[in-house]
Amino acid sequence: MNNLGNENYKSGFISIIGRPNVGKSTFLNRVIGQKIAIMSDKPQTTRNKVQGVYTTDKAQFIFIDTPGIHKPKHKLGDFMIKVAQNTLKEVDLVLFMVNAQEGFGRGDEFIIEKLKEVNTPVFLVINKIDQIHPDELLPFIDEYRSRFDFDEIVPISALEGNNVERLLELITNYLPEGPQYYPADQVTDHPERFIVSELIREKALHLTREEVPHSIAVVIDKMERKENDVVHVMATIVVERDSQKGIIIGKQGKMLKEIGKRARIDIENLLGSKVFLELWVKVQKDWRNKLSQLRDFGFREDEY
Ligand code: GDP
Ligand code: MG
Repeated sequence: MNNLGNENYKSGFISIIGRPNVGKSTFLNRVIGQKIAIMSDKPQTTRNKVQGVYTTDKAQFIFIDTPGIHKPKHKLGDFMIKVAQNTLKEVDLVLFMVNAQEGFGRGDEFIIEKLKEVNTPVFLVINKIDQIHPDELLPFIDEYRSRFDFDEIVPISALEGNNVERLLELITNYLPEGPQYYPADQVTDHPERFIVSELIREKALHLTREEVPHSIAVVIDKMERKENDVVHVMATIVVERDSQKGIIIGKQGKMLKEIGKRARIDIENLLGSKVFLELWVKVQKDWRNKLSQLRDFGFREDEY
């Protein structure tokens, strides 16, 4: 299910930013499918989250929401921008989406200022090209290019699908090697899933007195509510070395048992249900664990 053993597999985190109505949701819907829209409609006021997961046999794209990048309109504004900026730092790629029908605006300027402060690769995605004459495209590109050194500039129509495949190919080139974090058939991630993985990770770090590095990851392989209202969670703790695996499992499996017990209690409190938790440990050498870096979630505007 998880492609953890495949050395050449790529995976990474991608943030789509841009002014309202440029077509971010339309693009995500086209790439990921219908379900994401339902997920996105849920107001999620306290946490950043995974918006959608797109899986091919070569790569897994995890789209991360970037709350509050564009408008500091209330007192949480500065904080939210800080959070957004941290997210931009930690993702593998930023897609800055603009509307081909509109000229460069103040909102864009604000975003570009923020982009200048991070080293993450940035694509300029010019959406709605179905609405303009091809001759208008070059001056449009020049206007943006003079303001920022984009890694790629890709005109698309999210609505009609033009050039979307090409964009996905280019994205794949920029993703690092990494595991398939989510099962291939999973398109959306419940925010709870992320929190559950963090609860398990926290117990593992705490109980081993941080003898294992913070870079360990917890991948939720399965999380489902059974008819009797018990939530079954299957999770894999991913470590980088055999020695770390030994520490996590402990003598006669005692450590893993204790991690599971404590995590289960917290998860039960979180979900308000009985939980059946099954934990596995796996060694995956040398991979950067972006999930753990992204655990500092922030506030979210109900924009998507
Ligand atoms: P968001 O606020 O950035 O998420 O923008 P939405 O995805 O909600 O799109 C805003 C509007 O633009 C909707 O009416 C979409 O149908 C429309 N739209 C999005 N992409 C395209 C496109 O490629 N071409 C055209 N003509 N309209 C688009
Ligand atoms: Mg939207």
